[in-house]
Formats: sequence, structure tokens, C-alpha cells
Amino acid sequence: MKKKILVLSVILVGMVSCQKALKNKKLVFAVHAVTETTPVKTTDDAADDMCVWIHPTDVEKSTIIGTNKKQGLCVYNLKGELLYNYLVGKVNNVDVRDGFDYKGEKISVVTASNRSNNTVTVHKVNNDGTLEDLVQEPIKSNLAEIYGLCMYQTSNETFVFLSGKSGGVEKWKLVATEFGVVGELLTTIQIGSQTEGMVADDVFGFVYIAEEDVALWKYNADDLTKERVLVAKTDEVNLKDDFEGVTIYKKSKDTGYLILSSQGNNSYAVFDRVSNQYIKSFTIEEGHIDGTNDTDGIDVTSVSFSNFPKGFFIAQDGQNKDADVISNQNFKIVDFKDVLKGLE
Ligand code: CA
Ligand code: CA
Ligand code: CA
Ligand code: CA
Ligand code: CA
Ligand code: CA
Ligand code: CA
Repeated sequence: MKKKILVLSVILVGMVSCQKALKNKKLVFAVHAVTETTPVKTTDDAADDMCVWIHPTDVEKSTIIGTNKKQGLCVYNLKGELLYNYLVGKVNNVDVRDGFDYKGEKISVVTASNRSNNTVTVHKVNNDGTLEDLVQEPIKSNLAEIYGLCMYQTSNETFVFLSGKSGGVEKWKLVATEFGVVGELLTTIQIGSQTEGMVADDVFGFVYIAEEDVALWKYNADDLTKERVLVAKTDEVNLKDDFEGVTIYKKSKDTGYLILSSQGNNSYAVFDRVSNQYIKSFTIEEGHIDGTNDTDGIDVTSVSFSNFPKGFFIAQDGQNKDADVISNQNFKIVDFKDVLKGLE
């Protein structure tokens, strides 16, 4: 009995602190997932991050590449069905860029932070969505324990930012050779404390870095040593640590939204892409698919698909329920037109 009361009060306290954290209710709206991915193959906290690969000729054949941080990369179609499962190791964060020059061809490359051996995995995305290992020699980090990852691309070069559990961030350049891809370490900086979620804005040359317990920062992606800019602190209105995944919705080439997983209050904070002003937050509530909590990685695309004319948002879900039974974790897909409606 005592145990039950304790559990109940922990739940109640959790709910109250969560509501407290979402202080300005006028600036919070709810959306529902329209699709969810096949649960990952391992139990407990396993699904973590994802990216969206856009097929070069038929956008309906685009894929979602997710991480199961216990075993590898999972490739899903836009209905959320698992197509391929690659047991490449404990990959934590994943990102993708197109137009990488490789053996006279422009290819899509997907990279992931692999915690099995503290390296960056590099794969080519083939047109059928399969992945092909391109690593020529291991791209091994000097950070004690790698954690987050995002990619950045200029007109002719492709880079990987890698973050560590102790707050370090490395910038690597990907270099194609006739035998595969190698990495060249360019810069290492210290953010302060544990850092994971990151996203680069290729158009403006910025990289946004989430220091989990402290703040979301904006750095110059071309020169990490330049002075950083504070975007938001974890104690600001409607925000609550940990700050986890970050992503960018491109409304046009140079407008849009910066979205952050505010994990501590199970919500997603939306900022203007250019001014970085906070706009609103949203939650993914239970509908015909369960809602989300404790989200790690998020991603978004503004590409127009038949089912998602304004693109879609995708979020890792801390607890996946299927028919009211707790199942292995997965990713939830939200129609972005619902988010745009809430932002109006
Ligand atoms: Ca987690
Ligand atoms: Ca990602
Ligand atoms: Ca966390
Ligand atoms: Ca984290
Ligand atoms: Ca994570
Ligand atoms: Ca859920
Ligand atoms: Ca479910």
C-alpha cells in the first residue's frame, strides 16, 4: 500500500512540475502523430535519433534513417515500416547530406556517432534506400566518449560535428579518396557540460548546440572559436532541461523555424530561424497513436509529399504504447501542416 502511495505521489509531483514548466499555456498547442515507425528490436531506452533522406527522383521513396543506440541503424519508409536493419554498433545520433562528391558522382552520405568504438560511421544511401559502408579507415574521435552528431555542408565541402559527454565538440571534414571516405579533424572546442543535440544551418553558416542542462547556443559553423550567441536557457518560459534534439524547418531558402526538444517538460519549442525569437511550444498528445514523452532526437522536412504537403516532423518517443501495452520504443510522425496551424 505504502509503495502504491509513493508511486502515485511521484506521478502527481511529476505531472505538476511538468505543468509548471509549461507556464505560458497560451503559447502551447497540441498535435497528434499520424504515423509511427515499427518498434526497434531491443527493449528499454534504445531508439534515439533520426534523419530524413530525400530520394533524388521520387520523393515518395524517401526514407527515415533512425538509430537504435543498442545495435545499429534502422531504415523506414514514409509509412513507418522497417525496410532495413543494419547492426553497425551503438550508433547514437545520425544525419545526412546530399551532393557529396564521390568518384565523379554526387551521392547522399549518412553519418552516425558510433559509441561502440568512438568513431563516425559513414554510409552511402543507394537509390533503393540501402546503406553502403564507405569508411576507408576509422574516423576515431579524440573526445573521451562521443555522443551527439550533426552534419554541415558548404558549396564544396561536407563536415561532421561530433559532441562528447564531457562537453567537447569536434569539427571533422569528410574527404573522399578512391578507396572510400576518411576524416580530417579541423577544430576542437569546449562547450561547458554534457552536449548532444546539434543542427547546422547550411544557408547561414551556423551550428546550434544544445548543452543539456544549461542552454541552446548558436556557433559560427565555419569558425567554432568565434563568440557564441545564447538562443535560450533551460529556465526560460515553457522550457525545461534537458535540452535534447534540435532541427530546422525551412519555410523558404532563408526563412523557417528552429525546433528544440525540451525534454524536461515533454514539449517541442519553436523559434524563428532568423531572429531566434521564441514563438510557441507544442506537445504530441495521445490520439489514435500514443503521444510522446522524454524525447531525444527530432527531425523535420519541408519537402512536399502526397501525404504531407507541408512536410513532416518526427520525434523519438520515450515510451511507446501499442493497444495500451508498453512496447519497444519508436518514432512518431506528425503532419507539419498541423504544426503550422498551431503556430498561426
Ligand atoms: Ca532516452
Ligand atoms: Ca539527427
Ligand atoms: Ca536526457
Ligand atoms: Ca541526451
Ligand atoms: Ca540522445
Ligand atoms: Ca508514447
Ligand atoms: Ca504506439
